[in-house]
Amino acid sequence: MLINTPSSTSFRELAIDFSNLAIDSSFEILEYLDEVVEEYSFNADGTLLAMGDNKFGKADRTYVDRAIRTTTTLSQQSAEFFIKSRLVEVSPFSILAEPPDKWKAGNSGDVDYEDLKTLDAALLPNAYNKLCTPPLCNAFLQSYEKTRRLRNRVVHGVSRKLLTPSDLLLFILQTHFTFDVDYVPERLMHYRYGDPEIYQEAAHLSVAKEFRFFIEHLGASTLLQFLSIDKRNGGRFYSCPTCINRVHRKALRYYEVFPRVAQLKSKNLLKCPICRRESRVKRANCSKVGCKGDAISSAGQCLTCGSHG
Ligand SMILES: [Zn+2]
Ligand SMILES: [Zn+2]
Repeated sequence: MLINTPSSTSFRELAIDFSNLAIDSSFEILEYLDEVVEEYSFNADGTLLAMGDNKFGKADRTYVDRAIRTTTTLSQQSAEFFIKSRLVEVSPFSILAEPPDKWKAGNSGDVDYEDLKTLDAALLPNAYNKLCTPPLCNAFLQSYEKTRRLRNRVVHGVSRKLLTPSDLLLFILQTHFTFDVDYVPERLMHYRYGDPEIYQEAAHLSVAKEFRFFIEHLGASTLLQFLSIDKRNGGRFYSCPTCINRVHRKALRYYEVFPRVAQLKSKNLLKCPICRRESRVKRANCSKVGCKGDAISSAGQCLTCGSHG
């Protein structure tokens, strides 16, 4: 008798947990770099270029390289679990590498699923495309293959080539899109269960910061496809007054302005992708010199610069 057969849900939960850890880690790397390096960029092969700052030493570089390797492994593992989740939904036998006559029973006479060999990561996309619809798109397949190869090099301790934190985040967003993961609720949930105190105080702020990074670094079509953010037509963004009210004052003290991620839905209605609420705003020019803000909250706060007129 075969025991401990996995469920599709358990693989999906694992996939989401791993992807949350990979997102945390990617943003930690980017925050660390912002703190310790004056200016930096990445070569296409992931080599970090730190400029104009000799504070950035060997130890910093080692930390960044190691963190990127861990994140590569986490994001790849997450993608594998998502694929396995769908395959197991079709049949738990679809991911097994050997037929039943090769299975070995334990002392009890039962065969434990956990002891069986499962398909190699390289074979999963092919199995998926044979058993599931719609098939995996080429863009996902290419990123999956690239990350899988790099992960293998990491595992074998020979990797010199790396992915950049932005590449990794893009791969995660692509994986989310492919497997119908809604980024914001999953991230809010992650903060809620990771640290309830942070959730109460700053979860909406943390997710808005992440969204702000995506808005600044991803192209308009990627943003629209993966996060339903429309940056075309000028793409003006405002702080969301509902999110500001949800975040503890203590968490906001380092921010002159709450990350601007909300957009006008109509003349006086602001729609926020984080809290998903619509907030009424007054359309008036901000009184602060140099601010081109034109939407003011009901509490009198400029939603562009954060000042209280
Ligand atoms: Zn909001
Ligand atoms: Zn202003």
